[in-house]
Amino acid sequence: MSRTAERIFLGGAVLPLTEPGAQAEALAVSAGRILAVGSTEEVLRLRAAHTQIVDLKGRALLPGFVDAHMHLVSHGLKEIGYYLDLSEARSREEALERVRERVRERGPGEWVLGRGWDESRWPENRYITRDELDEVAPYNPVTLVRVDGHILVANTQAFELVALEATPEEFDAQTGLLRERAAWAFLAELRPSSGEIEEAILAAQKRAHALGITCVHDVVTPEHVRAYLKLHKQGKLTLRVRLNVGVEHLDALVELGLGSEFGDDRLRLGAVKVFADGSIGARNAALLEPYADDPSTRGKLNYPQEELNALVKRAHEAGFQLMIHAIGDRAIGAVLTALERAGVTPEDRPRIEHFELPTEEHLERAARLGVIASMQPNFVQWSGPGSLYEERLGPERDRRIDPHRQVLEREIPLAFGSDGMPFGPLYGIRCVLEAPQEPQRLTMEEALRAYTWGGAYAGFQEGELGTLEPGKRADLVVLTEDPLRALPPEYRVERVYSAGELVFP
Ligand SMILES: [Zn+2]
Repeated sequence: MSRTAERIFLGGAVLPLTEPGAQAEALAVSAGRILAVGSTEEVLRLRAAHTQIVDLKGRALLPGFVDAHMHLVSHGLKEIGYYLDLSEARSREEALERVRERVRERGPGEWVLGRGWDESRWPENRYITRDELDEVAPYNPVTLVRVDGHILVANTQAFELVALEATPEEFDAQTGLLRERAAWAFLAELRPSSGEIEEAILAAQKRAHALGITCVHDVVTPEHVRAYLKLHKQGKLTLRVRLNVGVEHLDALVELGLGSEFGDDRLRLGAVKVFADGSIGARNAALLEPYADDPSTRGKLNYPQEELNALVKRAHEAGFQLMIHAIGDRAIGAVLTALERAGVTPEDRPRIEHFELPTEEHLERAARLGVIASMQPNFVQWSGPGSLYEERLGPERDRRIDPHRQVLEREIPLAFGSDGMPFGPLYGIRCVLEAPQEPQRLTMEEALRAYTWGGAYAGFQEGELGTLEPGKRADLVVLTEDPLRALPPEYRVERVYSAGELVFP
C-alpha cells in the first residue's frame, strides 16, 4: 500500500464504530482502502501533492451501511415499475384504486403484479379478496403480494393463466388467497425477463447507495445470480453483494463443490437459506402458544423437526453457512435444536433471520452456539399498543418481541437489515430509538454498529468492512449531521463511497 493518501477527509466527526465512544478527526484513503484514521495532525502527515482534501464541514463520516437481509431484485423491480408498489396504500380502497389505475395504463390482458400491501395498517383490517380484484380488473390477471411475502391474493384471470397445485390449507379459492410455498410456486410462474432483472438490480443499487448502503446480503434465485454475474463482468456493480441461496439449490451447489465465501470482494456466495416458519402477519409463524386473535392455530413449522435436522446437517457438512428464517418461539427452538444436532459451532456463524420471539432459554442456547441474530429494527413498527403484533400475539408476547437489548446483553452478534420493509437503514435505526417496548430500544451507537459491523461479521467480512480502520475497504458514508448528536430525520445521507470511489450522488 502506498504511504501517501489519495484523499483525506477532515473537519467533521469521524465515527469508526470500533468500540463505544470511538471518535476520530480525520481519515485517509489510498487504493480503495482506508490508510489511516486518527487526529487531523497524524492523518495530514500522509498528505502528498496529489492528495485531495475533503472538508466535511462538520458533517459525519461513518462506515458504509451493510443491509444484512434484503431482497434487492424485488425492490428493484418496484423501482423500475415492474411491480406496482402498494406499501404506501393507506386503505384497501386505495390499494384497489392503484390496481384500477394500473389496469387503465396497461390495457386489457396485461399482468398487474402488486407488492407490499399491509392490511394491518388499513382502517378495515382485512385482506383484499378475489371478488374485489375481479371487479377492478375483470380483463387483467392481477396478483398482489403481502408486505411479508408469505401471502398473495390473485383474481380469476390470474388463476386461469397459472397452473396451481396447492393444498386447501395453502389455497382458498373463495377468497383467492395463497400462502407460503403455494404462493411462491405461483409467483415463480410470473418471472421477469433477464433484462428486467438486470435493470432492477441497477435501479436498486442506485437506491441502496442513496440510502448510505455499500453492502447488501441478498436472497437470490439462479436468474438473479446470472444477472449479478453479468453486471459484475461489465464492471457495473458498485455495491457489494452477498448471494444467499435457497436450500432447494443445495444439491446443485454440493455437486459443483461450491461453498460459502466463493467469489470476490464484490460478489460472493453466502449462506444457504432455509425457512423454518412464516410470518406473524400471516399467522403462520410457529408459536408455542396459540395466536391471541385465532386460538385455533399456533402457526406452522415448514419442516418436521427430523427433516429440519437433516437439512441443516447436510448444508453444514457441505461447508455452507446457514441462514434460517425463524420468527415464532416454536420455530426458533426447532432451529436451535437442528443447529445443535448438526454440530454447528460459533466459528460457523449460523444466522437466524428475524429471531423475533426468542425465549430466555433460546437466547442462552443461541449465545452458546454463536448464532448471529439477523434482525430488522423496522419490524418494531408492527409492535406496541393497538398494533398488529399485539393483536396477533397479545400484550405479553408483544412486550418481548424483537428483543434487541437482550440479544446484545447476551453478547449475541446482532446484524441489522431492512428486509425491504421499507429499504434503508436510517428508518430502521429511528424505529429502535423510538421503539414502543423497552427491550427493543437501543442507543444510536448500538444501532449504527448493528447496521455496519453486525452485517460485516454476519458475512465473514469484518476484517474488510464494517468499521473505519486502517487496511479495510474504503466504503464510507457522509451524513449531514453527527448522528450521535442529532436525531433522525435531522440527518440525511449526503455522499457515499465504495472502495474510495464516489457512488452517490
Ligand atoms: Zn426476507
